[in-house]
Amino acid sequence: MKKRVVVLGATGSIGESTIRVARALSEQIEIVGLSGKNNSAKLLELALEFPSASLSAGDEAAATYLSAKLSGRPVHQGAEGLDQLASLPEAELVLIAIVGTAGLRPALKALEAKKDLAVASKEILVMAGEQVMATAAKSGSRVLPVDSEHNAIFQCLQALEGRDHSTIKRLILTCSGGPFRKATAADLASVTPEQALRHPTWSMGRKISIDSATLFNKGLEMIEARWLFGIPMEKIDVVIHPQSIVHSMVEFVDGSIIAQMSSTDMALPIQYALTYPNRFAGPCASLDLAAIGRLDFEEPRTDLFPALDLARKAGTFGGTLPAVLNAANEAAVEAFLEGRLSFPGIWESVERAMNTIPFVEHPSLEQLVEADRAARKVVAWE
Ligand code: NAD
Ligand code: MG
Repeated sequence: MKKRVVVLGATGSIGESTIRVARALSEQIEIVGLSGKNNSAKLLELALEFPSASLSAGDEAAATYLSAKLSGRPVHQGAEGLDQLASLPEAELVLIAIVGTAGLRPALKALEAKKDLAVASKEILVMAGEQVMATAAKSGSRVLPVDSEHNAIFQCLQALEGRDHSTIKRLILTCSGGPFRKATAADLASVTPEQALRHPTWSMGRKISIDSATLFNKGLEMIEARWLFGIPMEKIDVVIHPQSIVHSMVEFVDGSIIAQMSSTDMALPIQYALTYPNRFAGPCASLDLAAIGRLDFEEPRTDLFPALDLARKAGTFGGTLPAVLNAANEAAVEAFLEGRLSFPGIWESVERAMNTIPFVEHPSLEQLVEADRAARKVVAWE
């Protein structure tokens, strides 16, 4: 039986790798839904390749254009279109690969409709991890990690075979260190968007590339891990690993560390999330360890990159703080890419938003949305 999959954010970097997996595993995976916001030409190509998939475009104009190009095939649009795809009767699994928090609503819709969820969009777990995990538990749905670090930990935890998680001593997230691993404070002050977008080991969308340069990506991933695995923040560590070959590790109480390694290709974690618990030969190249030669590990430089400490604080205090951190970061990254904010201005804005916006300890979803909105405003007014 093929797994029937909806891909939200199909025209992006994760979307592209997902399509590569679906092509290679056409006996195992059937694409039943595709959405894209800004790239109608790409969505059109995908629509032609997957003629029976339901479609959703960014807005009415894009939907009308696509439908005309597809001889009247229906095309949904906007936030409602995402909801419709997320709850398609024929879908079994919905992959959220939309950048930022726009994927939260369709993620909750998918879970309410009892679909399994594969999550690439870490921002939705940072903003509302408790709500997402609670909705999944209520529906009996799985939340499968696509982010390479979390997928690695998910694979390492298979060693427990469902036994007690109290034997986990800590989760160790690996981090490439980004393009400025060796930079000085003076270097960081004058970083341009072009420099920050040049990631040393991964090719990704613009927002996550900037997050990797500030280390907010790793900060968001610490909070993401906290929700996905139900592990307290103090048991989540980060180590710099410039080669990006060890994707993350789990240390157990007896001192044993289990690591997952593979080539630097998102196809593998995407494939494992889509085919879990089964493994198949897919598009990911085999790893030649002798050719790589060495694997290095070092401490993160938290003095120069405050993102990790800010995220640890947000994840430890919880409440509205992770939502504020995430939204302020999204707005600050946008401002940086548009030349309105310096590179260090990104973490300065996040810290200011975290210190300014009133804290709610047990927020409802509405209060999280409000905190998100307030944080974006704080950054926009700078
Ligand atoms: P991207 O910018 O390449 O693609 C984003 C996709 O989302 C596109 O299809 C775009 O049309 C769609 N989209 C953007 N805004 C939208 C909105 N408001 N409503 C509906 N659709 C919208 O981004 P990406 O690099 O593929 O990253 C996607 C998510 O996956 C991010 O949350 C990122 O952190 C996460 N992630 C990415 C990678 C990677 O290697 N690229 C790795 C791990 C996690
Ligand atoms: Mg990652």
